[in-house]
Amino acid sequence: MRLRNKPWAKDMLQAYPQYVIPSPEQHRGNWGAVFGNDHPLHIEVGTGKGKFITEMAAANPHINYLGIELYDSVIVSALEKLIEAELSNVKLLNVNASELRKYFAKGDVSRIYLNFSDPWPKKRHEKRRLTFKSFLEIYEDILVDKGEIHFKTDNQGLFEYSLLSFSAFGLLLKYISLDLHNSDFEGNIMTEYEEKFSKKGNRIYRCEVQFR
Ligand code: SAM
Repeated sequence: MRLRNKPWAKDMLQAYPQYVIPSPEQHRGNWGAVFGNDHPLHIEVGTGKGKFITEMAAANPHINYLGIELYDSVIVSALEKLIEAELSNVKLLNVNASELRKYFAKGDVSRIYLNFSDPWPKKRHEKRRLTFKSFLEIYEDILVDKGEIHFKTDNQGLFEYSLLSFSAFGLLLKYISLDLHNSDFEGNIMTEYEEKFSKKGNRIYRCEVQFR
């Protein structure tokens, strides 16, 4: 993700607390109150500019969505989409995924989406990959029992690494597509990166895995 300096981003995020949750640690164990219902909560980790999470929320009104993104200069584009869409079932957290335990108790989250996560190809950066063991431990600690991770990428190396990481962790591999756009998978909602890289002719890989 190329970062553009947007000095106004912080102020804009703070101006919309109904969409960008301030002090999310206050809602740990009680996210239903934030949405005003007890629908399942799905989160996208590394939501980027928010196309996927906004369109998922529009398509699935009985699911609550949270987009998690580290950089304010990126998440502000997701906020612009939410303001436009006027949906009540999607919100954003401007936080680091390594700290998700601070914001979610065991069982708060029903599903995690990882879309086009940064590949960090160098071995010495392995710990930063969002499918590294320490992140899987975090996901297990916040998901419901038998909770799922749905993962998409165009990066073959990251996909293969992630399948091995999931498998070594004992996750059940429920669904694997080595060419999502030429598969029978229905209802795919594309992310910004997916649009960009599939237009270039890159294959899209996708899997669904489940904690046991
Ligand atoms: N999911 C979007 C898509 O498919 O278009 C964005 C993909 S982009 C390559 C990866 C995003 O993950 C970036 O916006 C990055 O800032 C975010 N990210 C990476 N590590 C993160 C972390 N530890 N916590 C929160 N966000 C993170």
